[in-house]
Amino acid sequence: MTVRKKFDYLIVGSGLFGAVFAYEARKAGKHCLVIDKRKQAGGNVYCKKVEGINVHAYGAHIFHTNNKPVWDYVNQFAEFNNYINAPLANCNGELYNLPFNMNTFYQLWKTHTPEQALKKIAEQVAGLNIKNPANFEEQALLSLGPEIYEKLIKHYTEKQWGRKATDLPLFIIKRLPLRFTFNNNYFDDKYQGVPVGGYNCIIEGLLKETEVRLNVDFMTNRGELSSMAEKVVFTGKIDAFFEYRFGELEYRGLRFEEEVLNTNNYQGNAVINYCDASVPFTRIIEHKHFEFGQQSKTVITREYPISIAKDGEPFYPVNDEVNSTRYKLYKTAALATTNVIFGGRLAEYKYYDMHQVIASAIAKANQELFREPEFHIL
Ligand code: UDP
Repeated sequence: MTVRKKFDYLIVGSGLFGAVFAYEARKAGKHCLVIDKRKQAGGNVYCKKVEGINVHAYGAHIFHTNNKPVWDYVNQFAEFNNYINAPLANCNGELYNLPFNMNTFYQLWKTHTPEQALKKIAEQVAGLNIKNPANFEEQALLSLGPEIYEKLIKHYTEKQWGRKATDLPLFIIKRLPLRFTFNNNYFDDKYQGVPVGGYNCIIEGLLKETEVRLNVDFMTNRGELSSMAEKVVFTGKIDAFFEYRFGELEYRGLRFEEEVLNTNNYQGNAVINYCDASVPFTRIIEHKHFEFGQQSKTVITREYPISIAKDGEPFYPVNDEVNSTRYKLYKTAALATTNVIFGGRLAEYKYYDMHQVIASAIAKANQELFREPEFHIL
């Protein structure tokens, strides 16, 4: 006779994927244990309070989606404000609106109409000899022309990723809209905002009735931890799970330099990007502006992209050719591993946004719990 284990699922990682899976599993009457090696839950959406301001401790998170069910889902746990992300780019001391739109074109070229701006870009692109863009640089040059590329993209990108833009996949530049209206909204999605009071309330809502153990590292005690549950849901690094048997996957890291300033408004915007190679950070976040804060002080964070070693904190998967090929080997190994479900940015080695992680966690949970996906990733 087989004895049922204490938990149905051991969920490794309490970020969005793990927390959503735990919520869905509990709703279906399953018993889960969530573990996390950090001292707090929430993965990279965790916010900490500093001077009454919700500081996005692991980088700026702005929720946006076109997926109404996902929007309704997160709204169960938090009220969202009407924050619209409209970052600025600082290039050589000049400020430009992002994403690339009629305001940016006016600032660059004093063009007044879409026709003038289109003509300007077309003239610049005509001088290029690129037919089928094969990498990030070629795609960016072809869409925006050499001037915007040189000023606002190339150097930001190369410091962000720590490699030449020619060695990066072209899908990354497609994250940024290009539009011929005076519209500074960074996202094209229908729904956007930041949860009032920060992201922690979403994680708390998702994990409210689930046992969570913090400061527990799966990798150092995986045998014993796995034996507590029928199945494991793993949201950590997939290469670490398989003990790097096919080599290391590369991740880009971030170092955060946080400062409390004795002013109520430092930069007048939540996000300002720094596009020059001579500035070592990529952006300065002023957190209070995500929630229209009226505090007397302010908190800013400079984000420095860094390379990380095996045990460093991973932020971005580097989906270049070498790593993508290596990931496929890990994926095959994952598919052959029974009783483990892999999900999230690190376990799927995918540059997911929050809404995509949530959609994918719900889909995987439904598949697992009811054998029927209800949600599809956009
Ligand atoms: N990017 C750029 N200049 C900018 C902002 C973004 O060249 O001012 C490029 C850069 O390659 C970056 C990518 O666009 O990695 C995606 O930007 P996004 O803001 O989506 O990055 P995230 O917020 O995920 O760090």
